[in-house]
Amino acid sequence: MTGVNLGIPRVPAEPTAPNRPRPDTPALIDSFGRTATDLRVSVTDKCNLRCTYCMPAEGLDWMSNQQLLGDDELIRLIDIAVRLLGVTDIRLTGGEPLLRPRLEDLVARIAALRPRPRLAMTTNGIGFAKRAHAFAEAGLDRVNISLDTIDPDTFERLTRRDRLRHVLDALTAARDAGLEPVKVNAVLMRGINEHEATDLLRFALENGYHLRFIEQMPLDAQHGWNRSEMITADEILDLLRAEFTLTPSPTERGGAPAERWLVNGGPEEVGIIPSVTRPFCSTCERTRLTADGAVRSCLFSTTETDLRALLRGGADDEEIANAWRGAMWGKLAGHEINEAGFAQPIRPMSAIGG
Ligand code: SAM
Ligand code: SF4
Repeated sequence: MTGVNLGIPRVPAEPTAPNRPRPDTPALIDSFGRTATDLRVSVTDKCNLRCTYCMPAEGLDWMSNQQLLGDDELIRLIDIAVRLLGVTDIRLTGGEPLLRPRLEDLVARIAALRPRPRLAMTTNGIGFAKRAHAFAEAGLDRVNISLDTIDPDTFERLTRRDRLRHVLDALTAARDAGLEPVKVNAVLMRGINEHEATDLLRFALENGYHLRFIEQMPLDAQHGWNRSEMITADEILDLLRAEFTLTPSPTERGGAPAERWLVNGGPEEVGIIPSVTRPFCSTCERTRLTADGAVRSCLFSTTETDLRALLRGGADDEEIANAWRGAMWGKLAGHEINEAGFAQPIRPMSAIGG
């Protein structure tokens, strides 16, 4: 298949850190007082769906095996993150993480690291149902499954594939395997699935899933995001209030991206991630590792730090840890989507890891 070559990912190296010297501390601190403890690891850029808000119908020019980090390389970097940099939470993502061969083995190796990180995965769920128990046994703690619609026709229109049944089965299997709370990620698109906001919430409540709506972000490979077309967090709340009473949840939000709302007085909740209209950058606790070994301090970074080159060049663990610390120290205050002159990153979401 010929993919669209979008120039992934010759991204400039991280800018020089702020002039202030970085305090001598092992943690991943930045110059705005934040500490990253949550690492998102993209294990592949490939995907078997083609969600319209993420990638074009013809797919992308996937990374070669030579570009991708091997299992040993990935484990070495994740071990550095948990042992030397204070990372406590790992989330596997992609692309579609389930497409990475022998992912259960990788999960088991991450779960064996010390200190043992909490371990979660974000997946589209295709093929997960028959693997859910193996993942739980390997040490996966939780799973987020993406589901934007419960209507088969809308699913096919939105993902360009007829796979709704697989995702619904994945959700049930995740619950049966004890990977709870099972979270559902949904993106609403104007004129496509916005009318399903209440259907999705009803479905989640009936099945005990925790639903979170994510505002659509300018991270699609085709650069087709349009502010005037995105459904805002406030619109999502209005859509839901047509059927449900929503009141702010008393639960402390901390560094979590989701605003939480009690549904009909609780205890059930729904989350809204208002990445664009109410950015939560000031409490961000994240660092990201791409499948080809680049560290990014933000989804919207236009620069990155190439750890693969260090790794393959023979650097020791402390040198790699220091490069990671330097990258985090240079993290910007926020994503600037709402500033004049905002430039969408060259890497699309699928090659960063959402
Ligand atoms: N393939 C997996 C999946 O879909 O769950 C993992 C990777 S995907 C990039 C991670 C999450 O990002 C999904 O929940 C997806 O809906 C979301 N996502 C993708 N593109 C997005 C965009 N442009 N704006 C907001 N969320 C997006
Ligand atoms: Fe694939 Fe996830 Fe992107 Fe959809 S959102 S195309 S499932 S990577």
